[in-house]
Amino acid sequence: MLSRSSKRAFTVTRAVLQSGVFPARKNTATGLTKEELQHNPNALQAPNRTQTWTPSQKPKDDVIAENAVRFVQRDLSDQPQPYAAINLIAQEPIRFIEHGNIAVCDGNKGSTLQGHPKVFINLDQPKAATCGYCGLRYAKEEYKDLIQSNEN
Ligand SMILES: [Zn+2]
Repeated sequence: MLSRSSKRAFTVTRAVLQSGVFPARKNTATGLTKEELQHNPNALQAPNRTQTWTPSQKPKDDVIAENAVRFVQRDLSDQPQPYAAINLIAQEPIRFIEHGNIAVCDGNKGSTLQGHPKVFINLDQPKAATCGYCGLRYAKEEYKDLIQSNEN
């Protein structure tokens, strides 16, 4: 006959249930509570950004707390910490085009083969135009002083 006593790992014991005082809920995989995750430097959104960058994005500490099984390693510093591309592309200087009203962007820098489909960006307005694929900014050379004075 099979034994009815299973080896399930219940997190709440009978004594805790009877006392009515529950300990702070632990994230079982990481061993951290939600409050501890909010102050953990390894649970930040990215090393170069503390907040989310789209309204539909969940904060990283929420993701870790809600999906503890995905973070089976107890040490969060072992998890990948990719930099936020939105901040990295914002550091790229505006590319000023000397001739014509149209910039061509294929996202290709130097000899790399990665990039995106070639797009043509209209530069008629006196402001920097952003590539919809990669976020690089382009403007006409004649608007350089105006754009740089507005940025500072
Ligand atoms: Zn681009």
